Amino acid sequence: MDFDALFDAAKAAQPRAYAPYSRFKVGAALLADDGAIYPGCNVENAAYPVGACAEAGAISAMIAGGGRAIRAILVLGEGEELVTPCGACRQRIREFAAPETPIAIAGLDGIRARFSLAELLPASFGPANLRS
Ligand SMILES: [Zn+2]
Repeated sequence: MDFDALFDAAKAAQPRAYAPYSRFKVGAALLADDGAIYPGCNVENAAYPVGACAEAGAISAMIAGGGRAIRAILVLGEGEELVTPCGACRQRIREFAAPETPIAIAGLDGIRARFSLAELLPASFGPANLRS
């Protein structure tokens, strides 16, 4: 998987994040089944729990744009630690991605780690569970 285009899209979205409270700006970008790349960034809120993660924004953009499945996703943030998707976002990604879907974690300088969705969310519950 070549993450260059996803890295560029996430890096463009990251500084646009609305994060006046945490000051922790995150960008994300996903490649959808329609071949398009959809970016997202975190959008905080004065009522803290109402804020949304970058991955959630990218997924909303994908659905609004006509995509229906995630083929790959990259999350980008600053700091020393890996900016991996939070638990809720792992489940949000699972709704639209197969367990083997690649997830790259990047800093501003480039990709730092790669995982599969199954590595980040093992034995996950997805849409097929409701059909069995
Ligand atoms: Zn999240």
